[in-house]
Amino acid sequence: MQLTQRAKQVNRRPMTALEKIYLWNIIKGMSITLSHFFKRKVTIRYPEQKRTFSEVFRGLQVLNRDEEGRERCTACGLCAVACPAEAITMEAAERLPGEEHLYLEEKYAAKFEINMLRCIFCGLCEEACPKDAIYLSQSFAPANYGRKGFIYKKEDLLIPHPKENPEAYRKALGEKKQAAVPLPNASLLEKGN
Ligand code: SF4
Ligand code: SF4
Repeated sequence: MQLTQRAKQVNRRPMTALEKIYLWNIIKGMSITLSHFFKRKVTIRYPEQKRTFSEVFRGLQVLNRDEEGRERCTACGLCAVACPAEAITMEAAERLPGEEHLYLEEKYAAKFEINMLRCIFCGLCEEACPKDAIYLSQSFAPANYGRKGFIYKKEDLLIPHPKENPEAYRKALGEKKQAAVPLPNASLLEKGN
């Protein structure tokens, strides 16, 4: 019984002498290979060449600082709750007197980890954060040999200090973030102050 009308009848006629030496099929195959030789290549020579990412590309997370270089994260845990992959863990600590230049608010993340093997780069942590403390950058997590290398700690995620290393800070911020949040004290950063 035929289930559809699309069944193709198999041609069972004996092969001709030309077909038996497969020359015609080899020529057909080679012509397809050669036609691709002149077409635009879909592959690139990574890492020498890098693709331009889409504007909406979501890459490696960055823990943000304010313009004074203070950590913005208050360890509220909203990103961890929003994360569908349960990739984020943190430990909160209380800011001590004299640490005002390090942390923006009274509470901060003493430990902050993201498991990149779990992360699906959905961006929900960025959306959940009320402090603009985490965002997904335009770079991606590099390859690693061990599973432990994919557990990114706070030191790996924190953006460089805007005053101590303004160039690295601006680079880590990325064009998308710079456009979305114009740099405060941009003139100061230009001068490297
Ligand atoms: S991008 Fe998505 S999966 Fe990755 S840490 Fe953020 S919320 Fe979790
Ligand atoms: S990154 Fe944002 S949402 Fe996550 S704990 Fe810090 S302040 Fe809260």
